[in-house]
Amino acid sequence: MKRILVTGGAGFLGSHLCERLLKAGNDVLCVDNYFTGRKDNVAHLMDNPRFEIMRHDVTFPLYVEVDEIYNLACPASPIHYQFDPVQTTKTSVHGAINMLGLAKRIKAKIFQASTSEVYGDPDVHPQTESYWGHTNPIGIRSCYDEGKRCAETLFFDYYRQHKLRIKVARIFNTYGPRMHPNDGRVVSNFIIQALKNEPITIYGDGSQTRSFCYVDDLIEAFIRLMDTPDDFTGPVNLGNPTENTILELAQAVIDLVGSHSKLVRKPLPSDDPRQRCPDITLAKKNLDWQPAVPLREGLKKTIDYFDRLLSKKESRPSLPIKSYIPTKKSPAKNRKR
Ligand code: NAD
Ligand code: UDP
Repeated sequence: MKRILVTGGAGFLGSHLCERLLKAGNDVLCVDNYFTGRKDNVAHLMDNPRFEIMRHDVTFPLYVEVDEIYNLACPASPIHYQFDPVQTTKTSVHGAINMLGLAKRIKAKIFQASTSEVYGDPDVHPQTESYWGHTNPIGIRSCYDEGKRCAETLFFDYYRQHKLRIKVARIFNTYGPRMHPNDGRVVSNFIIQALKNEPITIYGDGSQTRSFCYVDDLIEAFIRLMDTPDDFTGPVNLGNPTENTILELAQAVIDLVGSHSKLVRKPLPSDDPRQRCPDITLAKKNLDWQPAVPLREGLKKTIDYFDRLLSKKESRPSLPIKSYIPTKKSPAKNRKR
């Protein structure tokens, strides 16, 4: 049993991680400022005496005693991280400095949730960890991409300079229950649009690719990475190497929901990467890990989650996620399946 700090623990990935760590019998301290996270995501853990939650912004120092730190705090969707880009950079950079300082003082092992965005719009495909990336330092995605790159720099400088035990994961697009319904990410957008029989918004021509990993697979990789020997620091790519175009994803969601939605084209956001697919050779070798959940299976579970969420909102219309409250019949009733 360990005492484990999860920053960003009330978010999508953080809440699944807290759940998983508690199941293994650990004490978990969840720290979050609720910028994109929600207490609802961890409400089911509140009765567990091993679980503690603290409202705190990681851009300020934190003084706690733990054995391990998972640093996940940072908005992850383009809409959210571009909402206050200065705060996004501060969260990545000051947050990393504060959490690394804490790890150094208490001699804790520390994990960083880095991202495939460090590769930018890649000109090497699929991306291996040795690829240095192709990022725009002054674009609208830079607060996130460059913030995460700088955080990686800090992790490796603390490793070399202070002999800190670090684990750096480069996470590729991940989806599943508890994604924020308003975060504008492609999987949540498409599912909600399909459930409501509204047009599916394809940005650009939809030929851009992403590789989608189901959340349970990713969390398994987090735990395995944290448990690797100290001389394995990463960075290691974590994601699903099966690549899909955005159009293929839209079709899969429409089929699974049994929706009447049509596709509608919208402009491609600036700096939107054309292709993204991880080379996970290193994760296979060092973590003995590869994703096990096929896309359609993971999508079904995610569709069920959003279906329940939308139905709940319909019966409790005062809740905040107003833009997704179905106005007519419940989307569940509109569906073919
Ligand atoms: P999320 O937005 O659901 O979770 C982020 C959490 O961090 C939220 O609970 C939010 O309230 C919290 N947070 C933000 N700023 C904070 C601050 N200053 N202090 C304290 N808490 C703060 O996103 P997620 O998808 O769960 O992502 C978690 C981590 O994984 C992020 O660091 C993200 O960059 C990384 N990541 C995620 C993906 C993905 O596909 N989900 C891909 C690559 C990297
Ligand atoms: N996308 C889309 N329609 C949407 C939301 C996103 O076509 O309603 C596209 C987006 O332009 C990008 C891909 O889907 O090419 C993945 O977008 P997301 O925001 O989920 O993640 P990221 O771009 O950070 O990988």
